Amino acid sequence: MSTTTTEQQLIEPHGGKLIDRTGSRPDGVEGLEQVELTSRELSDLDMLASGALSPLEGFMARHDYEGVVDNMRLANGLPWALPVCLAVDREPDGDQVALTGPDGTPLAVLDVDGAYEYDKEREAERCFRTTDDAHPGVKRLYDQKPLYLAGRVTVFERAEPSFPELAMDPAETRAAFAERGWKRVVGFQTRNPIHRAHEYLTKGALETVDGLLIHPLVGDTKSDDVPAATRVECYRVLVENYYPADRVLVAAFPAAMRYAGPREAIWHAICRKNYGCSHFIVGRDHAGVGDYYGTYDAQLIFDEFEPHELGIEPMFFEHAFFCKVCGSMATPKTCPHGGDDHVFLSGTKVREMLGEGQLPPAEFSRPEVAEVLIRAYRG
Ligand SMILES: [Zn+2]
Repeated sequence: MSTTTTEQQLIEPHGGKLIDRTGSRPDGVEGLEQVELTSRELSDLDMLASGALSPLEGFMARHDYEGVVDNMRLANGLPWALPVCLAVDREPDGDQVALTGPDGTPLAVLDVDGAYEYDKEREAERCFRTTDDAHPGVKRLYDQKPLYLAGRVTVFERAEPSFPELAMDPAETRAAFAERGWKRVVGFQTRNPIHRAHEYLTKGALETVDGLLIHPLVGDTKSDDVPAATRVECYRVLVENYYPADRVLVAAFPAAMRYAGPREAIWHAICRKNYGCSHFIVGRDHAGVGDYYGTYDAQLIFDEFEPHELGIEPMFFEHAFFCKVCGSMATPKTCPHGGDDHVFLSGTKVREMLGEGQLPPAEFSRPEVAEVLIRAYRG
């Protein structure tokens, strides 16, 4: 079977076609008005370039933005859960602007398709389900500039990936899946260190499909989240020691966290579809923060779409633990025993132990992973 044939058996990108907005540097970029991007906008730009945000080709125009905020759909009816917008102070004069990084280096041109006012409170209420500025996503939104600038982008200078060895565009993960003969692939992300509970659910999912894409988010997160470098090292040692090499791929997901809970779960799933995943793991409180979202909100929101509309299939998981009576990892779905029989440690307790150089019980963390975390907490 040729690679092409196998590749055709992978799930289609969202909207049917993988977008590529990379291109060569046009003449006269130096003369264009410049718009400096924030780090989140830079993540979005890179994902627009690679097709991770297919079918989007640029920052959203008003009709797409309104549709997404109102009912989680682009103007053409395709599901889409979160705005991908570029905030500016004023509408530029020319037809094109240069988009730059923080040091002023032009990375892309944007073909201006108008600028529009937007209602921050309404976006917060609809997308984050709160207008509380203590919410990190809402705060970021409130701090933004007052207009959204729409337009298709052409990226001629890709940002240096934070983890070059894990940098894979959707076309590359798709090629890697095809090469391994995978058709059904489950994607998994967490912004937390990976413990036995995550290992259990990824392996449970993997039992039913061909391959597993461990796809840690490496864009901006809150300052109190565990740094990406530490998380990535945890995945590396876990996969090396406990997963069959020909069934798992670890690659970086360059998105920034928005902490939009349920809507972000949909958005994360759609992005993974573009990377070639047919399934996506959604745990409890996916992409949540504080107590803004109910435990199962990020799973329930998938019911608002017909299965064929999203294409990618969510796999819902409960919180997992080791049960001493069952003698195995389990969840409330599969274990009838009480909390006293479960090996459970709070996040605070785990951090405390690691900070003191103590290994958590082997039923909770693999020792190789715990060692990585101990070094990180002590360094
Ligand atoms: Zn049990």
